Amino acid sequence: LTDAAIGPSRFDAVILDLDGVITRTAVVHARAWKSLFDDYLERRAAQSNETFVPFDIDSDYKLYVDGKPRYDGVASFLESRDIELPRGESTDPPDAETVCGLGNRKNALFVELLERGGADPYPDAVEAVCRWREQGLRTAVVSSSRNCQQVLISADVEDLFEVRVDGLDLERDDLPGKPHPEMFLEAARRLGVAPARSVVFEDAVSGVEAGRRGGFGLVVGVARDGEDDLLLRSGADVAVARLTDLPGE
Ligand SMILES: [Mg+2]
Repeated sequence: LTDAAIGPSRFDAVILDLDGVITRTAVVHARAWKSLFDDYLERRAAQSNETFVPFDIDSDYKLYVDGKPRYDGVASFLESRDIELPRGESTDPPDAETVCGLGNRKNALFVELLERGGADPYPDAVEAVCRWREQGLRTAVVSSSRNCQQVLISADVEDLFEVRVDGLDLERDDLPGKPHPEMFLEAARRLGVAPARSVVFEDAVSGVEAGRRGGFGLVVGVARDGEDDLLLRSGADVAVARLTDLPGE
């Protein structure tokens, strides 16, 4: 951990993922995905007289869905179950049996769950980001979610970040999502900092891979459940349970 000291002598910026790093919403996303896929898989199994194998948050969510743009997450999970569906259009209704239809249904479920709470910030994230800002580091938030700003506002942390790159930018600028590094690189560009002088914080395999591929100075895996093996194997330089676990300057 001594090599992972974060401060202005080595770094100019910190770039953080949202769900699971800044706010507790990774859990809300996982719950919405499970509800979507279990419902779909159960109906599919009943129609074809096959055994229903539920969506698993520990394996399926982490490996195929977490951190990716919504439709890529749907396609990636369905592929793992050998299910082929047409891609469809982003305007598909939530009950359409297409990749986009399922993705839209997931978003509706997520927004429903979010309205019942769950957008709390992690206190250690707020404390660490405030400290880095006081030291003069620049800050950005990067999320595949189109609900990024809404979550930042309800968690009352929007003001902590100078730059936001989110699911709406992905769509508008046609950027490839994580595990491609473009979203993080775009954040660095908007901040006017070099990736090599920036730190990426991620709790998802796809996000850690994106940070690695983007040539960032330090990639911190955030394993809030303490299970850091997967993130370290995916290319994180260091893994912590809390952002305040990292040494400062
Ligand atoms: Mg995340």
